[in-house]
Amino acid sequence: NYRCRSAFKLLEINSKVKMLHPGMKVLDCGAAPGSWSQVAVKLVNSNGDDTKKPKGLVISVDKLPIYPIDGAVALSRCDFTKPIIQEQLVSILKDEKLDVVLSDMAPNATGVKEMDHDLISKLANSVIRFAVTYSKPGADVLIKIWDGRNRPQLEENISQFYSKFKIIKPESSRQNSSEIFLLGRGFKGLKPSSQV
Ligand code: SAM
Repeated sequence: NYRCRSAFKLLEINSKVKMLHPGMKVLDCGAAPGSWSQVAVKLVNSNGDDTKKPKGLVISVDKLPIYPIDGAVALSRCDFTKPIIQEQLVSILKDEKLDVVLSDMAPNATGVKEMDHDLISKLANSVIRFAVTYSKPGADVLIKIWDGRNRPQLEENISQFYSKFKIIKPESSRQNSSEIFLLGRGFKGLKPSSQV
C-alpha cells in the first residue's frame, strides 16, 4: 500500500530505466508523505526483507512531517536546501557515497508559471550540487521539474557531470502537464580541484 499515487511515477520510470537495485544507497528529496521512499526501500532492499540480497540504504528528507517508513532513515521537517540539514545527511552517510539521488521536491505553487518554474529550478540545482558532491562515480540522479525556460541550463548542469542525460514524462503524470523528470546517468566523478 503506497501513501500516494506518486509511487506509480517512480515505479514506471524505474521499470523503463532500471536504476534502483538491491544494496544501493539512495537519497529521496522531498519525500513526504513517503511513497517514493516506500518504492525505493523495496527496490534497494533497505529493510533487509530479502535476506539473500544486499541491504541498501534509503534516506528521506522533507520540510513536512514524514511518518516513519520501515527501512528508511527519515529527516522529517527538514529543509533540504539548508547547509545544516545537508550536514546531517552527510553524517548519516558516514564516509559512504550515494548510488542514486531522487528529487520529487516541489515548492508551494504560487500559480504564476514563471515564478513556480524558477523556484523548482532552484531546488533542482541544489539537488544537482549535493548529488555531485556526495555520489559515487557511475551514480544516477532523477529530478522532477515543472518545465520552462531554465530547462536547457539544468540539462547543461546535469550533462556536465553525468555521461547520459534524458527527459522522462511518465504516463502516470500526464494530467500534470508541465511536470517532467530530468535523468542524469553515470556520474563522471569530480576532479579533486573542481568547484560545484
Ligand atoms: N515523492 C513524494 C511521495 O511519493 O510521497 C511526494 C513529494 S511532494 C510532490 C513534494 C514534496 O517536496 C513536499 O512534501 C514538500 O514539502 C517537499 N519540499 C519542497 N521544498 C522542500 C525543501 N526545500 N526541502 C525538503 N522538502 C521540500
